[in-house]
Amino acid sequence: MVSFDMKKERTLSILKPDAVRRSITGAINKKFEDAGLSVVAQKMVHISREQAERFYAVHRERPFFRELCDYISSGPVVVQVLEGENAVAKNRDAMGATDPQKAAEGTIRKEFGISISENTVHGSDAHDTAAAEIAFFFSGCEIY
Ligand code: GDP
Repeated sequence: MVSFDMKKERTLSILKPDAVRRSITGAINKKFEDAGLSVVAQKMVHISREQAERFYAVHRERPFFRELCDYISSGPVVVQVLEGENAVAKNRDAMGATDPQKAAEGTIRKEFGISISENTVHGSDAHDTAAAEIAFFFSGCEIY
């Protein structure tokens, strides 16, 4: 019989260009795994400017929108699906605050973040946005 744990949740994570550039993707994945999150899909992509604008459409009116899209499309990133109990919240806890200077000790952004723009990781902010963001990058057969 195939068992399926209904309590498990999935979320979309992106290891941003500064993480790939500095070869710290393994260190970041260790943080996720230590926090009880499993990587169930992962691939390296170079997001185009047009894809960036669609992915971050919710921020279109924000003053930093152009900088955000320029940055996320500036080099290769690792997109991944993380799975675990309360994965969205667990991932956000592991990431830390948006601004690395305000992030708590032990979080990824505190340890590795360079600036509010080059803040190393993206993580979905809610269950419904996670589903939409996963579908943006992955087809069902790419997720374990
Ligand atoms: P997140 O959920 O913690 O990633 O934060 P938001 O959803 O509010 O913002 C999305 C991304 O936009 C952040 O991860 C930052 O890279 C960027 N960002 C947010 N606020 C600012 C800002 O005030 N200035 C700049 N340059 N970038 C920002």
